[in-house]
Amino acid sequence: MKQITVEYKDCSNLDEQLNEIKKEFTEGSYKKILFHVYSGILDEKLVLDITKKINSAFDTDMIVGSISAGEIKEGRLMDRGVLISAMLFESADIQVLRFEKSIGNEREIGKNICELIDGIEDIKAAELMLPGTNLNTRVLFEELSKCNPDVQIFGGYAGGHAMETNEHYVFDHNGLYDQMVFVVTYAGADFHISIDKSVGWQTLGMPFKVTKADDNRLIEVNHRPAVELYEKYMQIEADDNFAEETFEFPLMAEVDGEELLRHTILVEEDGTLLLAGYVTEGMDIYLCYGAPADIVKKVDVRLKTVCEFQPEAVLLYSCSVRKSFWEDFVDIEMMPFQKVAETAGFHTWGEVSRDLATGSVLEYNITLLSIAMREGEPAQIKPEIVCVDDSVLKGQASLIKRLTKLVSATTTELQKAYNDLSDMNDMLVKMAEHDGLTGIYNRRKIEQIINAEFEKSQKNNDTTSLVMLDIDHFKQVNDVYGHEVGDVTLKLVSNLMSDAIARIDGGAVGRWGGEEFMMLLPKTSLKDAEAFAENLRKCVEFYSFEAVGHLTVSMGVASADNDDEIKNIYTRVDDALYKAKNSGRNRVVTA
Ligand code: GH3
Ligand code: MG
Ligand code: MG
Repeated sequence: MKQITVEYKDCSNLDEQLNEIKKEFTEGSYKKILFHVYSGILDEKLVLDITKKINSAFDTDMIVGSISAGEIKEGRLMDRGVLISAMLFESADIQVLRFEKSIGNEREIGKNICELIDGIEDIKAAELMLPGTNLNTRVLFEELSKCNPDVQIFGGYAGGHAMETNEHYVFDHNGLYDQMVFVVTYAGADFHISIDKSVGWQTLGMPFKVTKADDNRLIEVNHRPAVELYEKYMQIEADDNFAEETFEFPLMAEVDGEELLRHTILVEEDGTLLLAGYVTEGMDIYLCYGAPADIVKKVDVRLKTVCEFQPEAVLLYSCSVRKSFWEDFVDIEMMPFQKVAETAGFHTWGEVSRDLATGSVLEYNITLLSIAMREGEPAQIKPEIVCVDDSVLKGQASLIKRLTKLVSATTTELQKAYNDLSDMNDMLVKMAEHDGLTGIYNRRKIEQIINAEFEKSQKNNDTTSLVMLDIDHFKQVNDVYGHEVGDVTLKLVSNLMSDAIARIDGGAVGRWGGEEFMMLLPKTSLKDAEAFAENLRKCVEFYSFEAVGHLTVSMGVASADNDDEIKNIYTRVDDALYKAKNSGRNRVVTA
């Protein structure tokens, strides 16, 4: 295969340029031709003139066009021009499909594309050219993620140079569209493709929680207006330059282990950030920083793979934020690809890529998506590995690198301290609610649980019962065997009660004081509670306590299903226990 790129100059020139492509096409052993047109000029007549010319010269509708925020020709930014890429294939089967009226029909279209992909023999990849408008691509991608998991999916969102305008069209020889989805399928036993994205932005500081969001609108972070994130931590005020100033500090969210960068397009009056890409409530997000040295390193990693792949053509779909970030240096990360193969592409309003491990098709921001293509097997020679030449950056980068390191090191320490604190907090909560000796609830907590249960049962007209237990002649245990044995005995009795109450739905047991305990039996009648207590009494009676041997307990039982009874239940259960003691111990008395 071969890629030829031409920059549109004027009409007469274009005829000549197209003729040359035609000559190449007919003289070579090519079977198919595919045109990508990237236009940084939003002029309907112009893009139609160009695409119509291509259409008639080649008698083809294999034309996909996108309004772009920067055209990439031979690895260089060709700002505000029109770039035509012709891809000539020897054996690959290429198809261009168009899905109109996509807004509102995202799920259906996603299903259709899926079906289509799954029906093409030897399909390797599908490219999406999307209008960067109100299209709900999350739904579209959800469906697309279900197609043959071996098929790579990539693409870009159309969008012009100006942040605030709506120049998000895709186009072909029949028109300019804001609701058309173009799908290009690449298939063939001999066709090979390697796709990956390079990011390189680093997270800064601690994560923040998205507490209110609506698709692309980040409304609240940690229950505060989202804009405060930038005001508080970056000293970036919500003025006209907000979007530009925050390019260097986009947000990063993690979805299924994938890092999704999101940059701000504009701030709304209430402090909501309109992002290029969705966020969802409950997500952790980080502020990020673009450190040139780290970004270059990531591109170098990808370059090595691309070199080894030995492509015959490369498409670069790079986020427009990268262009704004690098400013005059934007070519340094794209140029090396041209050393490997003829390169074309554009600066997008969002990149599309599929994670082959999970199958998920996702929308990204701030990535450099490189798509390397080849027909046939690579040459046997060892390919030369090219790198980004970042010599122009040296100097300023090292200070940033050190500051980034400082922030990340202190964050790690803070995070650890925070985790320790939160462990300690969990421990304190446990201590505040449980009895130190027996491990069951303390009086404060069991009272809370009982009161909450009564409130609930009152509403639902349920009967709730309490069982109060006191060990018989416990003083003697201490007197005869010593206090330590007394402690062990208290623990063992607690265990017996815990085992018994575990069988009661919603049941709970707590230490009421000394060797007195209280058990809660929700939704239990007086009769059932009495039976429960009687079982427990027998269980204790036949249990052989370490050192002490046999012991008995006395219990009072009371139930409540109306307001008055609830108010007095503690007195009634206590009275019942008192009666059990006075009438000979080792027994259960109901109130
Ligand atoms: P009865 O209830 O059958 O009337 O007799 P009793 O001997 O159990 O009565 P009383 O309530 O007078 O005695 C309770 C004893 O429990 C007194 C106290 O020393 C002991 N006790 C209370 N808390 C603990 C504790 O945490 N550990 C130990 N070892 N003993 C405790
Ligand atoms: Mg006692
Ligand atoms: Mg007692």
